[in-house]
Amino acid sequence: MARVIVVGAGVVGLSCAVRLLESGHRVDVVARDLPLETTSVVAAALWYPYRAHPFDRVTAWSRAGYAAFEALAGDDTGVRMLAGTEVHRSATADPWWRAAVPALTRVDAVPPPYADGWTFVAPVVEMPVYLRWLTARIESLGGTLTRMALSALPDRTDVVVNATGLGARRLADDASMTPVRGQVVYVEQVGLDRWWLDGSGPIYVVPRSDDIVVGGTDEEGEWDRRPDPEVTERILARARELVPELTGARTVGHKVGLRPARPEVRLEVVRSGGDSRVVHCYGHGGAGVTLSWGCADEVAQLVDGG
Ligand SMILES: Cc1cc2nc3c(=O)[nH]c(=O)nc-3n(C[C@H](O)[C@H](O)[C@H](O)COP(=O)(O)OP(=O)(O)OC[C@H]3O[C@@H](n4cnc5c(N)ncnc54)[C@H](O)[C@@H]3O)c2cc1C
Repeated sequence: MARVIVVGAGVVGLSCAVRLLESGHRVDVVARDLPLETTSVVAAALWYPYRAHPFDRVTAWSRAGYAAFEALAGDDTGVRMLAGTEVHRSATADPWWRAAVPALTRVDAVPPPYADGWTFVAPVVEMPVYLRWLTARIESLGGTLTRMALSALPDRTDVVVNATGLGARRLADDASMTPVRGQVVYVEQVGLDRWWLDGSGPIYVVPRSDDIVVGGTDEEGEWDRRPDPEVTERILARARELVPELTGARTVGHKVGLRPARPEVRLEVVRSGGDSRVVHCYGHGGAGVTLSWGCADEVAQLVDGG
């Protein structure tokens, strides 16, 4: 049994903490922002491998995530398996992550301006509910969560898991970490029970129990976390073209999150002096929810493997 400190309480840190506790380790999570204050709570959060690399590892982590979320689906977790449609404006080959979903069906006829598309069932995760559930799971397994802003990774413990997302720019001195700003709008639920995605936008419409998340934007290198009301209107106008049922739906809020992007997800163990080890697990870009369980499994294997 190792004494593990997980730094970061977004979806990645919390999932790692759960898997490590399930493996029998002693785990304490410390984070500057508590779960409902993180980027993770802003995620739409449709299972979808987006803006994360490299393709082979991301496909394997996504496949593991799909199965884990399917097993967790239920009202208490906030996870639902929902059918939806992805559309394209020109003929498009199967997605590079095709092997990560059990079934993907081509749509015979898509309405203009679209020319191609496919449907599949995907996990949709209601993040405020799910992050609360993950936190409760950590506590029920004997772990702890403490608010603490660190200026360096801890060194007096067996293992540190660095799940600090964009914070790794400083804590791991990693200048390749870049924010990709995303704004989402929340509108009232109008009876929508399918998700929709137009990859050219990105435009996505993701139904939840009480509202619908409508996105989005994708601004590389932009750090501003204030929602822009004009952008909200642009997002809604584009989304109504994709999903006409949204016309007239009341806007109930908007939020901005900074995706923690990196040329490749960093998931590796490094020795940090003596018997101490640091497992870096950050840089999940636009797919941190999708990849969370696959990466957490691998982190636990690295820790178990000594
Ligand atoms: C608009 C938008 C929509 C998205 N939609 C989806 C989606 O549909 N599907 C999907 O899979 N993904 C989606 N994502 C991406 C997803 O949100 C991220 O990939 C994911 O949240 C990253 O999780 P994380 O735990 O690595 O980072 P974060 O959630 O940012 O958590 C990082 C943690 O580290 C802590 N930390 C950082 N620095 C320090 C420090 N110095 N000391 C202590 N603690 C520190 C923070 O306080 C925080 O607790 C979306 C993102 C955005 C912005």
